[in-house]
Amino acid sequence: MISFNIPPYCGSEETYIREAIQNHKISGDGPFTKKCNAWIEEKTGTAKSLLTTSCTSALEMAALLCDIQPGDEVIMSSFTFVSTANAFVLRGAKVVFVDIRPDTMNIDERLIEAAVTDRTKVIVPVHYAGVSCEMDAIMEIARRHNLFVVEDAAQGIMASYHGKPLGAIGDFGCFSFHETKNYSMGEGGALLIQDPKQVERAEILREKGTNRSQFWRGQVDKYTWVDWGSSFLPSELNAAHLYGQLLQADEINQNRLQSWQRYHEGLLPLAQAGKIELPVIPEGCVHNGHMFYIKAKDLEERQALIRFLKENGVEAVFHYVPLHSSPAGMRFSRFHGEDHSITRESERLLRLPMYYRLDPLDQVKVIETVAAFYEKKG
Ligand SMILES: *Cc1c(COP(=O)(O)O)cnc(C)c1O
Repeated sequence: MISFNIPPYCGSEETYIREAIQNHKISGDGPFTKKCNAWIEEKTGTAKSLLTTSCTSALEMAALLCDIQPGDEVIMSSFTFVSTANAFVLRGAKVVFVDIRPDTMNIDERLIEAAVTDRTKVIVPVHYAGVSCEMDAIMEIARRHNLFVVEDAAQGIMASYHGKPLGAIGDFGCFSFHETKNYSMGEGGALLIQDPKQVERAEILREKGTNRSQFWRGQVDKYTWVDWGSSFLPSELNAAHLYGQLLQADEINQNRLQSWQRYHEGLLPLAQAGKIELPVIPEGCVHNGHMFYIKAKDLEERQALIRFLKENGVEAVFHYVPLHSSPAGMRFSRFHGEDHSITRESERLLRLPMYYRLDPLDQVKVIETVAAFYEKKG
């Protein structure tokens, strides 16, 4: 069976994890966490990166730092992972969903402004498959209405929009280092902070409401409870695992982009014959090979294709069930405008196996199996 995902592995991870153990520093904010944060700051140009226990917790920190109050509204698309919405729902926000663009599956920037009310506080663009949302338009709307922008860049590390790294465009950016993402620490993430004035509050929030970060830097002479907070910092063991992979980030990125390109070339004839649709990368967007998806004609054809692939040793998957039609979505959200694209496009979407060091021969098999399905179908 060709797996849908195999977590990234470089070979240096054990060395760094052993180093953390031998240095007797396995809790958070040790040398490996610092190195990962420095790498992210360097790579993205963000003022501050704080490693977290997940992208979910980075989103939760962002919601806290935006001072979300019960009844505040947050605009996003419902074609996303639950955490994008949950982080704000936990603070009592009402989620306002708008439709997506069918070409990228990202929020349709032309629909955002009409959904803004006097309760709106945040726009959350999700960069699906590492392909950027239309950030110029989104930042412009946010400026006009004095809103925060929190980028869900869980899939967007190493990708960019008109030269700007994803995650470092809005007020806050959230990365994921889950094992399904391009770089991994098992479970983990990072919060990217653009405004230096927010950094101190973020550090306190992440360190259980204490000023321990300032204490370690010698900026204050005692360490105490100074504000609200929780624990969002990962263990050094996880950070050490991630560090090994960040050192090989370009090699991993290139490898994924090559796999993406091979799928694209191999499946192009089927797309040209009008059997399937392939992903679109708009001008100005540089993606990171996070995902390769195709679109079948409809739900029925997609399900038949998944079955056919499985029978022939290929694991293919789909996601997301649109949040606005989920049980929790019905309680915590409203949909502004109409769902022209989210349900229809998500039902047609199918993700092919994609991971670091995916064997090109396996890709040939995947491509041939998809082709065989459509040949049989006629
Ligand atoms: C993976 C993912 C998340 C959640 O990341 P975790 O690190 O597992 O919390 C959130 N949003 C999107 C779009 C994702 O793909």
